[in-house]
Amino acid sequence: MNIKSYLTNLKPSSTLVINEQSKEMERQGKEVIKFGFGQSPFPVPNNITEELKKHAFQKDYLPVKGLLSLRKAIHADLLRKSLNHYSVDNIFVGPGTKQLMFLLQLAFDGDIILPAPSWVSYDPQAMIAKNKVHWVQTRIENNWHVTSQDIEEVLKICTAKNKLIILNTPNNPSGTNAHNLQELAKKFKEHDIIVLSDEIYSDLTFKGSYHSIASFYPERTIISNGLSKWCGAGGWRLGYFAIPDLLKDLDDKMQVIASEAYSSASAPIQYAAVVAYDSDQKEFLDNSKKILQTISDYCFKKLNTNSISVKEPEGGFYIMPDFTELLKHKFNSSSTMCSQLLLDTGVAVLPGSDFGFPESQLLFRLSFVDFDGAKFLQYAKDKHSLTEQDIQQFAPKVINGIKKILDWAGKMSA
Ligand code: PLP
Repeated sequence: MNIKSYLTNLKPSSTLVINEQSKEMERQGKEVIKFGFGQSPFPVPNNITEELKKHAFQKDYLPVKGLLSLRKAIHADLLRKSLNHYSVDNIFVGPGTKQLMFLLQLAFDGDIILPAPSWVSYDPQAMIAKNKVHWVQTRIENNWHVTSQDIEEVLKICTAKNKLIILNTPNNPSGTNAHNLQELAKKFKEHDIIVLSDEIYSDLTFKGSYHSIASFYPERTIISNGLSKWCGAGGWRLGYFAIPDLLKDLDDKMQVIASEAYSSASAPIQYAAVVAYDSDQKEFLDNSKKILQTISDYCFKKLNTNSISVKEPEGGFYIMPDFTELLKHKFNSSSTMCSQLLLDTGVAVLPGSDFGFPESQLLFRLSFVDFDGAKFLQYAKDKHSLTEQDIQQFAPKVINGIKKILDWAGKMSA
């Protein structure tokens, strides 16, 4: 084998398996409802795409940490959100936050604490970077987020000198927000734990208002955000970190690695991103959130039954129902449950095991964005609120898919 031995456990995720299975079904002419993809359905706002066209001629390499005008625009955006502990110097722009997280994992010397559920890439990145991971199982009664008690428990095992926890709120896969940030901040401060605060869905918070742990614990919190979710521009690959002064050594080493790995994020995209952060996108965001909230409310109302456990999403585009009670006599793993659901109904979802849950916990992530976002957005512009009929008209696959899941689960449990 030509492969490094420590990478042999790095397997393609079941996301790929589900996607392959979906494609095969489509080839056979079957309809697949794609609740597996985590991509924004909305188009990039016009003024931002226009700016990209205007800057297609920008062909020079840019500074490793990003274009100064973009870093200033991002800094101003943080100030508008009352995150005033970071300077322009602290802003590190890169080709997507996933890439920046990878740089961080490569540079960081210590252990990683991951709440389960966690986004799919944190753990494989740690494995590639040879960082030890300590999982913390969260519970539905805590809104699927860690508590300070959980942190105390994991610190009995995680005794490395340097520790980094990755928090993600609003969360992928659960859609829920952490409401105990102040208490967590106190605990992290007590133990000098570095926080990577993955805030990629923060501008899509549709219930309550968004809070960042950086407002309670800026000195060791790295904020991670970018254009992928709120701006619908995942493929543009533009993300940033705000790295506090105290972590300058990490910032410096990440720069060196970036300079050896990719040089800088794409120039035209960076110029367009200046406008994304400088211009007022309130109307676009309000309309996007109106749609996401209406669909989320619908999914929650339908899935929240006596036999299914589910928490109400607060942001982003995911919901994570737990079918353990209902289907534990039928399936012993979330991945076989999801494969069977896809085969029987054509509905593709991602198993909880991809997000750090034990296989026996029969959860899945449902991404409720299989609809034409441009059309729905156009319609929603003039509406104060949206109804179930509007979902029926503009996102029929969501209604159909939820019905299929519920009918299937009912049959399976009989
Ligand atoms: N963090 C979370 C929780 C995500 O869901 C994603 C994308 O799916 C990312 C980070 C990566 O975003 P980017 O496109 O900035 O690499």
